[in-house]
Amino acid sequence: MQVLGKVIIAFLPDDLGSVLKFALLFILIPIVFLTLAFAGPVTAYEKIPLVSYEQVQMYISTAEKVSESTKNPYSEGVEVDWKDLVAIDAVRFKQDFSKANLNEIEELAKMFIEITGYIEVKEGDDVVRYPIYRLRSVDEVLNMLNFTKEQKDKVKEFLSIDFSEFLDSPATDISSGWTPVENELKWPLSSGYTITSGFGTRIDPVYGGERYHSGVDIAAPLGTPVKAAADGEVVYAGWNDGYGLVVFIWHSNNLETRYAHLSKIAVNKGQIVRAGDVIGYVGSTGKSTGPHLHFEVRNGGKAVNPLDFFK
Ligand SMILES: [Zn+2]
Repeated sequence: MQVLGKVIIAFLPDDLGSVLKFALLFILIPIVFLTLAFAGPVTAYEKIPLVSYEQVQMYISTAEKVSESTKNPYSEGVEVDWKDLVAIDAVRFKQDFSKANLNEIEELAKMFIEITGYIEVKEGDDVVRYPIYRLRSVDEVLNMLNFTKEQKDKVKEFLSIDFSEFLDSPATDISSGWTPVENELKWPLSSGYTITSGFGTRIDPVYGGERYHSGVDIAAPLGTPVKAAADGEVVYAGWNDGYGLVVFIWHSNNLETRYAHLSKIAVNKGQIVRAGDVIGYVGSTGKSTGPHLHFEVRNGGKAVNPLDFFK
């Protein structure tokens, strides 16, 4: 390069303007090359929201939660579409979904809801006001967000793609329709075999970023009874920051099972339980994006894949 530079300078006219033009060429040519090299990836980058499966679950559960809040005896409620939320945030956060958090998603979801009036009902001595809701269109919400024309077009481009691929669960190493085979351990729920998040490394659904998942998340409605996976002793029953309300059970064979995010605990520390005993109820306490059971199995203290016990 240096030799080439000298050769080129040797052929340069003496005036500075031409020197500058040559210097510019040296800058422009690499830029053109770099642009060509990255044009492919950049285009792909812009066509689909770069949202992970776990983040999608966060959008779905928030959209459901907000939609659910619009139901009352006089309103059928409105359905906020999680896809709209994802498309808007892909533009709002410039594809950096690690910036998405539950509060902000919920605020966005609520922007889709307009109260158009109230129905006043006499209930005993009280008059109760029930709101009537209307679902705002994507355009209305984009205007409320002061999106530019370009940003609005981008949102619509995102909405034109097929979102179904975002619903494919990664790394749960089981297929849909799977049911557990019970040997050493019993399944902790009487029904519900949908694993929404597998064991191992994954994207954190609440804070983003990669993290290690010490158990499996099993989808289940709020209040579903949770059962001891085997005979054992309750060694912890109470609150833990990440787990929320959680029960730890020690079993004879060096195994320990943990049941987290419970809405209610039905056992006490020191209690001896038998396999199948109800120890609590499914909830969403602690670091959780919606009702599910976080089920964990530890062998000699080390977390292992719970599903390996049910194959
Ligand atoms: Zn979990």
